[in-house]
Amino acid sequence: MPTRDFSVQLLTWFDQHGRNDLPWQHKPTPYRVWVSEIMLQQTQVASVIGYFTRFMQRFPDLAALAAASSDEVLHLWTGLGYYARARNLHRAAQIIRDQYQGEFPSEIAAVQALPGIGKSTAGAILALAFNQRQSILDGNVKRVLARYFALEGWTGQASVERQLWQRAEQLTPVERVAHYTQAIMDLGATVCTPKNPACDRCPVHNKCQALLQNEVARYPFPKPRKVLPVRHCAMLMITNPAGEVLLEQRPPVGIWGGLWSFPECEPQTDWRSWLAGQMNLQVEHAHAWDRVRHTFSHFHLEIQPIHVIARDSERAVMEGGARVWYNSVQPDARGLAAPVKRLLDELRAQQLGVP
Ligand code: SF4
Repeated sequence: MPTRDFSVQLLTWFDQHGRNDLPWQHKPTPYRVWVSEIMLQQTQVASVIGYFTRFMQRFPDLAALAAASSDEVLHLWTGLGYYARARNLHRAAQIIRDQYQGEFPSEIAAVQALPGIGKSTAGAILALAFNQRQSILDGNVKRVLARYFALEGWTGQASVERQLWQRAEQLTPVERVAHYTQAIMDLGATVCTPKNPACDRCPVHNKCQALLQNEVARYPFPKPRKVLPVRHCAMLMITNPAGEVLLEQRPPVGIWGGLWSFPECEPQTDWRSWLAGQMNLQVEHAHAWDRVRHTFSHFHLEIQPIHVIARDSERAVMEGGARVWYNSVQPDARGLAAPVKRLLDELRAQQLGVP
């Protein structure tokens, strides 16, 4: 039976070549597997390892994560991007603490109902941590299956995705599900790579339709291209006579929700009047820096940073805790959006006179 061939060949290969020393593979509790799976969404293994290790040192179990402040969780996530993942992780930990007596649920429907956990991630957690027969369909697996079955169409298209799920479920074996799940992820990450897959080392090459048709480069079909819109904003990097910089916390939803950032306005705004009106700040001196572009999945953000040196910072309107004067030379623990962190680093270098 071809489906059984696939899992047998894959597991035989996994026993020799699979990865078994990743930090989350030691003590694969549902909590550790869950955190790793969330971090691995949209992020490479090599980048995740350090974040995962620091996260586990600070939050060794679900109770510690549920009890943490969102600022601290976001701080440990700074640089990983896609911050909704961290907010959902934190919220889900609190739901598990309050509704499941702190025990990670083992029912797929309950796992999928948690914030930030889709069908594939739920399947991966249950397969890897509970050895339950569940299937996964992350980006790596989509690529392997699209090639193995030579499936036409972009893998993000609903009809193609349905076929991929069907195939994924047929291929998942009854036994050794945890190993099989790790194996198919490893195959995608190390052999059936996006560019130049190593078909000569592939354990399932004998029935791979893309290879048999000599059309590997054709699969998976690329996403139809669309031009991302560009949005513009000005970020006001306001420093006071003590060299501190004004940061404000963004609303909990939307881009960089809950993270700390510079006050922002439309680029054409008369920001001197805006600062006087909104924050009661008088400008001593200001100059514009080179623009910075940050790309999100659905738009580019063109940032015009403006360094503003303010006088009389004592009179600034601080809006009860949502704004702080931040010491960038001795920074405290708070979540910062990636471009804000880079601008703060530059500002600090200037203040310290580092070339
Ligand atoms: S034979 Fe090549 S294209 Fe087919 S699954 Fe293996 S690595 Fe991927």
